[in-house]
Amino acid sequence: AKAAGGNRYEIADADSNARVIARHSLTNGLPSALEKGEFFIEYQPLVRLTDGTVRGAEALVRWLHPVHGVLGPDQFIPLAEDTGLIVPLGRWVLEQAARQAREWRDADEDDGEPLRVNVNLSPCQLSHPTLVSDTVAVLENAGLCPSALCLEVTENDLIGADESALRPLRQLADLGMDIALDDFGTGYSNLSYLRRLPVSTLKLDRSFTRGMQRAPADPVDVKIVEGIVSLAHTLDLAVTVEGVETAVQAEHLRGLGCDTAQGWYYARPGPPERLHTLALADAS
Ligand code: C2E
Ligand code: CA
Ligand code: CA
Ligand code: CA
Repeated sequence: AKAAGGNRYEIADADSNARVIARHSLTNGLPSALEKGEFFIEYQPLVRLTDGTVRGAEALVRWLHPVHGVLGPDQFIPLAEDTGLIVPLGRWVLEQAARQAREWRDADEDDGEPLRVNVNLSPCQLSHPTLVSDTVAVLENAGLCPSALCLEVTENDLIGADESALRPLRQLADLGMDIALDDFGTGYSNLSYLRRLPVSTLKLDRSFTRGMQRAPADPVDVKIVEGIVSLAHTLDLAVTVEGVETAVQAEHLRGLGCDTAQGWYYARPGPPERLHTLALADAS
């Protein structure tokens, strides 16, 4: 009698089955994907707001899956974290990013500031005992100084971290690596806590950028961004804004004193060659 209800139930069930199977098959495919070279990295430019020049890029990993096509990190990073594959995968991303940073540096003829590359770190990597030695080895192999790379860690991953948990990050910061606090503003860290963290940049979460879409901008978001920028600059931290999709947003955020921006307005993530073309274009 309850045909419709029954159907709905069956559909939902089949659906969640499919999800379990998909998750299972993706998880199974992960370890060999690294060996088979199925991962690749796209780069998205980071642009200085005062003059529009490309300062560097964020490395964003993708998986060219033999059956499902290109998968975004949200579809497989959580699985890689659950299975521990994130550690070798993260190391691979770091190696690729370092190689790319080196290539850009070598291609830079006018000895301007070299393009810097930002790399995302998972919490499992942060707490991994070889983070510091692996990272130093990657820099040395690529012949790069530590300031050529920036590590991005999310605010939530650092909330509650005590001094011993922060030590590896502090060591890398002391070597001269830039550390950025990603998705800033989405966590519940109290702001004075920032002083204790070995970070040099705040990456303001996309949710704040959204309020800048219209002219005039959302007055509450303006106040929040103003407050964050002033606090950050007081603490000697740079502010990067994410998710800038329009010229109006870019103009608002520049006016509010943000330092660097990233988003579709400038460029979507893409192959490294494209980024180099963009950087050359603003040098001329
Ligand atoms: P995230 O670090 O916050 O990276 C920014 C995300 O915003 C990227 O998504 C980027 O493509 C997207 N994005 C950039 N500009 C715009 C814009 O103007 N509008 C909108 N709506 N989105 C924009 P993506 O590439 O899908 O990456 C998602 C997340 O996956 C990243 O968020 C990061 O947390 C994680 N991820 C990416 N690569 C790695 C990696 O190598 N290791 C680890 N552990 N995580 C990674
Ligand atoms: Ca990031
Ligand atoms: Ca982010
Ligand atoms: Ca994010």
